[in-house]
Amino acid sequence: MYIGRFAPSPTGPLHAGSLVAAVASYLDARAHHGRWLIRIEDIDEARTVVGAAEHIIQTLAAFGMESDGDILWQSHRKDRYSTAFNQLGNAVYACACSRKEIADSRVTFAADGAVIYPGTCRNGLAPDKAARAWRVRVPDATDPHTRIQFEDRWQGLIEENLADNVGDFVLKRADGFWAYQLAVVVDDAEQGVTDIVRGADLLESTARQIYLQQLLGFRVPRYLHVPAVVNDRGEKLSKQTGAQPLDTTHPIKALMEAADHLDLRLNAVLHDTPNAIDDFWAVAIPAWGQRFAVG
Ligand code: GLU
Repeated sequence: MYIGRFAPSPTGPLHAGSLVAAVASYLDARAHHGRWLIRIEDIDEARTVVGAAEHIIQTLAAFGMESDGDILWQSHRKDRYSTAFNQLGNAVYACACSRKEIADSRVTFAADGAVIYPGTCRNGLAPDKAARAWRVRVPDATDPHTRIQFEDRWQGLIEENLADNVGDFVLKRADGFWAYQLAVVVDDAEQGVTDIVRGADLLESTARQIYLQQLLGFRVPRYLHVPAVVNDRGEKLSKQTGAQPLDTTHPIKALMEAADHLDLRLNAVLHDTPNAIDDFWAVAIPAWGQRFAVG
């Protein structure tokens, strides 16, 4: 049974970029006659905007997308993340380094410009130090398990080297913050998600997530990362780059633009009539199915 999901972080209203991810995940689920779930990723309380989740859920419904099951809220699930974290046992270690200490050590940089942790606390904390965070150990550069490979249904074969490109990464901070990488893996497993369809900005998180799935004994889902939507300046659309909230009074325009971005050639002229949203899905679902040879 196919189970897909759309997992927005409620940091602001849905925009054209997040609509593309929602539409792609919905089309893939419907083309597979599967289920499609909404999950609200409100685990990072500092970034969560009050009311944004409800607004996103309403906007999705205005475009004809409703969750086939209960909506999961990450902020209610900290005990689950804690259980998974405990299950990781010795794969996890306490780290006392401050950002400055990490920056001052001889560091290398990951593909995304992030600092790769030099492993200072790998063999235990100095006696006078307190834990600031807990990191999961990635296999050493000489260990073949450090290379994570997966076949992405849009992007093709992807390979990432955890030791060289990522390093030991944070799962939990002393202030109670749970990392997205852990939360997403625990939730996808618990919801039985078989297929993850999302924006290509998350491509570089995937190796970390597959690594955690392997450590926790979860099934590795299939992945499809759709190209990110960029603005005139070539920046990924986001609240920070000034993306505008979607206009739900003209849903067809936004849906057609999303389909266009997904390279779906819909031989249909649709206008904002009462049945237009149903008509859109009726042509877009088979077009997606054909494009990705579903069924
Ligand atoms: N919450 C993440 C975001 O909005 C998406 C996570 C995912 O699809 O795995 O960027």
